[in-house]
Amino acid sequence: MRLQGGHISQIGTWNDGLDQAEVDDLGEVILMPGLVNAHCHLDYTDFFGAIPSTASFTDWIRAMVDLKADVDDAAHQRSWLHGAQQCLRHGMTTLGNIETRLDVLPSLWEQTPLRVVSFLEIILLKPESDPAEELGKLQAWMQANIPPRGCVGLSPHAPYTTKFELLEGCAEFIDLPMAMHVGESAEENQMFREGAGAMFDLLSQAGRDMNDCADQSPIANAQRAGLLGERFVLVHGNYLDDADRERVAEGAAHWVHCPRSHEYFGHQVFAAEAVLEKGINLCLGTDSLATVRDASAELDLFEEMRLFIQNHPRVTAEACVNMVTQNAALALGLQQHVGSLERGKSADLIALPCSEVDGGVAEQIVAHEGEVDSVMIGGKWVVGERKAA
Ligand SMILES: [Zn+2]
Repeated sequence: MRLQGGHISQIGTWNDGLDQAEVDDLGEVILMPGLVNAHCHLDYTDFFGAIPSTASFTDWIRAMVDLKADVDDAAHQRSWLHGAQQCLRHGMTTLGNIETRLDVLPSLWEQTPLRVVSFLEIILLKPESDPAEELGKLQAWMQANIPPRGCVGLSPHAPYTTKFELLEGCAEFIDLPMAMHVGESAEENQMFREGAGAMFDLLSQAGRDMNDCADQSPIANAQRAGLLGERFVLVHGNYLDDADRERVAEGAAHWVHCPRSHEYFGHQVFAAEAVLEKGINLCLGTDSLATVRDASAELDLFEEMRLFIQNHPRVTAEACVNMVTQNAALALGLQQHVGSLERGKSADLIALPCSEVDGGVAEQIVAHEGEVDSVMIGGKWVVGERKAA
């Protein structure tokens, strides 16, 4: 492989006319595209173990709101950067991250080599709140703050923390990537389909107009607003049904599943096979360390792949690797730049040691444990011994 100006300019065999004067010999490794994490909350990295796994998603939300209230900007940045370092060590080069503090975000972008698609989170649920004003502010911010790598998108947080007018306003930003947590919990499902339950009570007390909560899917508002297009990344969707999957497939929207977060909450079995049968672009994400049970966990897509295959043994290792490379690149709108090793794409590469695992390369990739050997982003080594070279 020949690299030029941070991009891949040629791929071929050793004798394919490569100029061997400037060769970087990586030895016996698996060289593959840097991993793309389709869904993450870097700022929750230091919340690791802070909320014990609970049966009630609504209780978890309450605990999270309390935790976040105590975090100042310095702690927020430390946690975000801890997460970014973990992502790099585990071979991620691009990630879709939910952002909650715009004041410090440009400085965070400068402190990581990662390619970040920053989804600016919006929570707006009271009838008197003005979506146009909020979106106008975000638009002005986006025009003034351009990330050095990656790009900026929007994240209306979830159906239960937003109102229809906001989603309608978001739909006007048709060129931006959009991420939304939808149908994550049984309580959210109950709130929208039955107009009852713990989450219904919580949001009703918070002043949300609950008139949209009866006999409708959690995804109905997003669809009615016109959001379910090819720039839309649906996160979780644990409690969506076949009619919902049809809606997502029709719009050519993308779907992110986070296996360890799913396990932490003890949700009903994820319908991966049904999502794939509809031809929906399925990706994997890490979510955050606030929702991982393992006491020594780091943000690690290899762990996510292993748990996913364990739970869905009919999915091949190759399909699973695609979920953290080309599928995720497509979901984030970066398919021209990352997600595969092709001429013209960014030189975002990782090297893994070859292992003794039976099977093909994809099986070896899924079996990889721990940190990766080396990581390159945009032609520069950012992890590994060659970093200083
Ligand atoms: Zn999330």
